Amino acid sequence: MKSQDAYDIVIAGGGIAGSLFAGVMARAGVGVFLIEKEARFRDRIRGESIFPWGVAEVMRLGVREVFDRAGAVEIVGLRSFEDRQPADPYYWAPDSIDSLPMLGFEHPRLQEAAIAWAAEQGATVARPAKVTDIDRDGQHQTARIQSRDEQMTTRARLIVGADGKTGASRRWTGGSSRSDPKHHLLGGVLVGGIDWPERFVDMVSNPGRVNYWFPVSTDRTRIFLALTPEQHAETAIASSFERFMALVGEEASADRFAMVEQAGPLGFFPNQCTWATQLAGPGVVLIGDAAGSLDPTQGHGTSHLMRDIRVLSDMLTTESHWPRALEIYARQRQETYDVLRAFDRWMVAMRPATGDEAARLREGHLRAIDADPALGGWRMLSSRGPDGLRADEASRRHFFGDAR
Ligand SMILES: Cc1cc2nc3c(=O)[nH]c(=O)nc-3n(C[C@H](O)[C@H](O)[C@H](O)COP(=O)(O)OP(=O)(O)OC[C@H]3O[C@@H](n4cnc5c(N)ncnc54)[C@H](O)[C@@H]3O)c2cc1C
Repeated sequence: MKSQDAYDIVIAGGGIAGSLFAGVMARAGVGVFLIEKEARFRDRIRGESIFPWGVAEVMRLGVREVFDRAGAVEIVGLRSFEDRQPADPYYWAPDSIDSLPMLGFEHPRLQEAAIAWAAEQGATVARPAKVTDIDRDGQHQTARIQSRDEQMTTRARLIVGADGKTGASRRWTGGSSRSDPKHHLLGGVLVGGIDWPERFVDMVSNPGRVNYWFPVSTDRTRIFLALTPEQHAETAIASSFERFMALVGEEASADRFAMVEQAGPLGFFPNQCTWATQLAGPGVVLIGDAAGSLDPTQGHGTSHLMRDIRVLSDMLTTESHWPRALEIYARQRQETYDVLRAFDRWMVAMRPATGDEAARLREGHLRAIDADPALGGWRMLSSRGPDGLRADEASRRHFFGDAR
């Protein structure tokens, strides 16, 4: 087995989290080795919009150019559909931090741009190659790496798990993986042929079904459809593009989709929050979905991973005692995750959930908005982020207008 020189940091996983973290640390002069198992990224129907609070993190990190290279587009606001027509839009600015917009991007294009950028900043990149395990020895960790034709080991001061929600790194910290119950299915497909004179997230939200679509480049749109398991079975949608579009067309003016062409795979996935019980251990730390993934329906995953990169890179470059840096990062990450997970759970309890309890919560929520339009900051979560919010019982009751 070949042995590589030691690095400051070895990163397992070159998705958006791993690659941007690698580039940011390498740019700061830290020795980084990034390992990604895929030779080429493909459309896996993943997150393709980042909320204004995530864009604020992008700007603070100085990585907006990576989004530009990937052909990202600015999305100015959110429009609900009523009676198949768009209602008055909500514009992110001026509520958002520095009046920033949301960004739409094609996930595989951003992954490719980010991993190329990491290499340009000075990170060593191995691809396709996989971290198969790690060993500990005093001050250092050793990563075992399998590439196409050889096995090697690399020593590092810190190993960063950025291998996504199904990766092995959740065990490397000494913890394990936990999940909320699966509550609905989210399906998506990439299409061409929708004209966006002004770019919005368009959304139709009904009991049993939530449907939204947004531009991800100048000529592509991502359409998502969240269904209860019952609706998914009833509609027999499976992987039929025609049935998927017929369902989407029921909710919005049909001429909007008249010219639509399928531009990527169509798939449905069970959705829930899933997280690591321990975010850091001796010489190991987790970021992005490896640390904790959010229910994709609410769309905060990529914003949260940008926060991870910013907080962890700030800590590691300013605190020489790295175990202390990891401790602070892990504590802050947990607080943010708890807020975003609470929001996910509260939202899906109203829609796509159906039944009397969901109806009661929706009514209470509308009452709460009448009394306090900002809902104590929860309604500004997409534009201003989770700071200052608390995932406690008092917040839950405020969110639902005191409905218990
Ligand atoms: C259907 C769906 C819709 C979503 N919509 C949104 C949205 O609109 N907005 C939003 O913000 N978020 C959304 N998300 C969430 C978002 O996609 C994720 O938060 C984000 O992709 C996480 O990125 P990551 O880099 O942490 O993990 P991943 O994207 O999972 O990347 C992990 C990487 O690690 C590599 N890897 C795994 N194991 C190893 C190993 N052992 N060695 C080396 N490499 C390894 C993988 O190949 C992969 O490239 C959505 C998610 C889903 C599933």
